[in-house]
Amino acid sequence: MKTDEELKKENPEMYRIARTKGTEPAFSGKYTDEKEKGMYMCAVCGAELFSSDMKFDSGTGWPSFTEPANTENIVLNENSSRGIKRTEVLCKKCGAHLGHIFDDGPASLPDGKKGTGQRFCINSCVLDLKKD
Ligand code: FE
Repeated sequence: MKTDEELKKENPEMYRIARTKGTEPAFSGKYTDEKEKGMYMCAVCGAELFSSDMKFDSGTGWPSFTEPANTENIVLNENSSRGIKRTEVLCKKCGAHLGHIFDDGPASLPDGKKGTGQRFCINSCVLDLKKD
């Protein structure tokens, strides 16, 4: 596991998001419009987090998923930061802050798959797409 100092030196933006619960600017991340099929891994530790099958265009400017690939690899943490009550999404394996979950997800996906009504709003910076 990389220490804060190691991660900060290697990738300041990843450190800021993963370790200090930061957020990348909307529409700035490399995976916002990504359409390639594959598995999105935690960029910090390599845990499997989200499948491209559950990715949808939310229009919010961040990669959005209806559900995790493996709920075992995710931790949800309800908290209030900056006066806003939100549910934080964390990587269970390394504790990296990934993003937040909201209740405005689609009921169905474009390919006909059933949605969950949830939207996992995730920072591109902490994802690493392993293409199929
Ligand atoms: Fe991780």
